[in-house]
Amino acid sequence: MDFKLTEEHLMIRDAARDFAKTELLPGVIERDEKQEFPKELIKKMGDLGFLGMMASPEYGGGGMDTISYVLAMEELSKIDASASVMVSVNNSLVCWGLDTFGNEEQKKKYLSKLTTGEKLGAFCLSEPEAGSDATSQRTTAIDKGDHYILNGTKNWITNGSSGDYFLVIAQTDKEKKHKGINAFIVEKGWDGFEIGPKEQKLGIRGSDTHSLNFNDVKVPKENRIGEDGFGFKFAMKTLSGGRIGIAAQALGIAAGAYELAKDYSKQRKAFGTEICNHQAIAFKLADMHTQITAARHLVMKAAWDKDQGENYDLSGAMAKLHASKTAMDVTIEAVQVHGGNGYVKEYHVERLMRDAKITQIYEGTSEIQKIVISRSILKD
Ligand SMILES: Cc1cc2nc3c(=O)[nH]c(=O)nc-3n(C[C@H](O)[C@H](O)[C@H](O)COP(=O)(O)OP(=O)(O)OC[C@H]3O[C@@H](n4cnc5c(N)ncnc54)[C@H](O)[C@@H]3O)c2cc1C
Repeated sequence: MDFKLTEEHLMIRDAARDFAKTELLPGVIERDEKQEFPKELIKKMGDLGFLGMMASPEYGGGGMDTISYVLAMEELSKIDASASVMVSVNNSLVCWGLDTFGNEEQKKKYLSKLTTGEKLGAFCLSEPEAGSDATSQRTTAIDKGDHYILNGTKNWITNGSSGDYFLVIAQTDKEKKHKGINAFIVEKGWDGFEIGPKEQKLGIRGSDTHSLNFNDVKVPKENRIGEDGFGFKFAMKTLSGGRIGIAAQALGIAAGAYELAKDYSKQRKAFGTEICNHQAIAFKLADMHTQITAARHLVMKAAWDKDQGENYDLSGAMAKLHASKTAMDVTIEAVQVHGGNGYVKEYHVERLMRDAKITQIYEGTSEIQKIVISRSILKD
């Protein structure tokens, strides 16, 4: 067993850390306030290779391992979880999904543009009536020979208006239930594809979340991913890896808030001494550090499992469950350590606290992670 990161891993972590501090930090409060999508920053992240980290180099990807990806996700999320969710969706849902299950033509046409940031991807599974219960798809795609006709609504889609290529899950044969579901690549601008208004959110306000409507959208048959009926499996496999990215995002939010709280506690004085000298505050920091370290180990183990070709359904679910709870617990305590200053925007911790909550909801709620974990541990 070796807990040491390689030189290459350290370089990637440091590059992400530098980028987050120099590029994401300036303006992060304003972007949150105005719900502003950081278009230029996404472009820069594409140029630096943060948008297709794990994808095959022949399609413009970085060919990196999952450990590299979670290290970058943690660093970006310490500063700006809105930017990191876009990185996460593009990398671990869209690029990974296409790289692993797409055919040669799809990879050439779509993946090579998504890995470089020339185009941005979105993953469209959730619907008004199908969130945790993803088998209840109401969006339909009717087989018309050389194309499908797509109809329905998707909800809460990250990169909803900024995305260019959308992986859309739809029911093609109701009788076959989840075995009659398919995944399709849909391009922005196709006739009948409408983007709904932007959601007004509690956190990750810099990311654009929209509902999408498909009204008789013609999707060429060559845009179906995998064999007929592969869509549900595609979504589950992709989300299983995606969860590792969201776990790393939660870890980053927690670590960012902890670092701010620790620094603040060494500067702020009360009753004639720095507040870190009060045991109540020092113990909060001790708890935060312990919880974050445990979360980091779970995230790394899940990433390692994926890189080793081991099954990562259980380790990924545990990492997400624990890291997202850590993000909530630590950010709440970080606000407390900051006292009144914790409640105002310029100290960043209130934003991190709002951002933390989503990590317990998307890519499978905490309750759904517990279902995955309990089924896995009880099966033998
Ligand atoms: C900001 C944001 C971005 C998002 N981005 C995307 C995206 O890019 N693509 C996408 O497809 N989706 C996206 N989502 C949707 C997200 O994945 C869903 O909101 C999530 O899966 C939960 O589904 P739901 O909202 O329908 O909740 P529901 O499924 O209605 O759940 C409500 C509550 O019931 C609990 N519950 C449900 N079933 C069970 C059960 N069997 N046992 C115990 N408890 C249960 C849930 O845990 C939850 O607490 C996003 C959501 C948000 C808010």
